[in-house]
Amino acid sequence: NQLANQIAAGEVVERPASVVKELLENSVDAEATRIDIDIERGGARLIRIVDNGRGIHKDDLPLALSRHATSKIRSFDDLCAVASMGFRGEALASIASVSRLLLRSRQEGQDIGWQAVTEGRDMAVKVSPAAAVVGTCIEVADLFFNTPARRKFLRTEKTEFTHIEDVVKRVALANPDVALVLKHNGKVVRRFPAATNNPEVKLKAVCGSAFCKAAIAFSGELEQLKIYGWLASPNYHRSESDTQFIFINQRPVKDRLLSHAIRQSYSGLIPTGRFASYVIYIDCPPSEVDVNVHPTKHEVRFRNPRFVHDFLVKLLQQCLASEAT
Ligand code: ADP
Ligand code: MG
Repeated sequence: NQLANQIAAGEVVERPASVVKELLENSVDAEATRIDIDIERGGARLIRIVDNGRGIHKDDLPLALSRHATSKIRSFDDLCAVASMGFRGEALASIASVSRLLLRSRQEGQDIGWQAVTEGRDMAVKVSPAAAVVGTCIEVADLFFNTPARRKFLRTEKTEFTHIEDVVKRVALANPDVALVLKHNGKVVRRFPAATNNPEVKLKAVCGSAFCKAAIAFSGELEQLKIYGWLASPNYHRSESDTQFIFINQRPVKDRLLSHAIRQSYSGLIPTGRFASYVIYIDCPPSEVDVNVHPTKHEVRFRNPRFVHDFLVKLLQQCLASEAT
């Protein structure tokens, strides 16, 4: 069982940033509106996520840490979550198998909280009462302590933290209503306020004010496909590709077809070796896109790739042309 979990962990848990991604997705699934992320030593020492979501019932704590995905589908809502977020049901079990994990939670209406701890080795889960506010706190300590080969592959603290920051930015942009605070070694590094009625607040916090000044908003709809977002004007080209964000149905993706469409739209407008900056949201019916091609690689498969590609190129070219005049 432990071994099965560690093998699964190989799929899901590449580095600290992949842990953060899974945990943040869970907090968002639980309808958290505020998430605090505490990182120590690039995530190798500690990843602590505290959210104000709906919490986990005491009786469900061991289940949350077990790997039987289907047993976790318990309601129609769960099924819908499968459609929207993708479903694997083994992230926590995988993470627990390669770390020292503590899961503490309290639901509305419970007068105390409960916590579960696992110790990498035998996956036994101990549940005990604990002081807690409503919501969930997960601590993942000493990642890969029992898989030295993987631990060796961790890069510098700074590199690992940069990957984490990137994940947090994506979650922030994908969920405008959620406030996130990111700390590293006890210091606040990033603060992304909730921006429910004003998405530009989030945009500025994540992408910076220079991007915001250069950004042109655009949007378009074709049949059931809706594409919108911001493109930086071609004058704002950069030496790094760090402000390139694409979301499909609120999920961050990296996709060759879409990158190609964007490059094609900018071609000739920015010098070679320089990068365009953009935040692009694509909304379409879940039946039109498969976001679960690979659990971690962010790739997607559209039912009708040409249609999406060509519409995106058309929209972006229009947007860039309007900027030129
Ligand atoms: P999945 O998200 O695919 O269901 P996970 O292993 O990531 O699988 O999480 C297992 C379960 O634990 C979730 O289905 C959810 O019920 C519960 N859970 C995990 N994190 C949270 C959280 N932050 N708040 C509430 N419930 C959570
Ligand atoms: Mg999950």
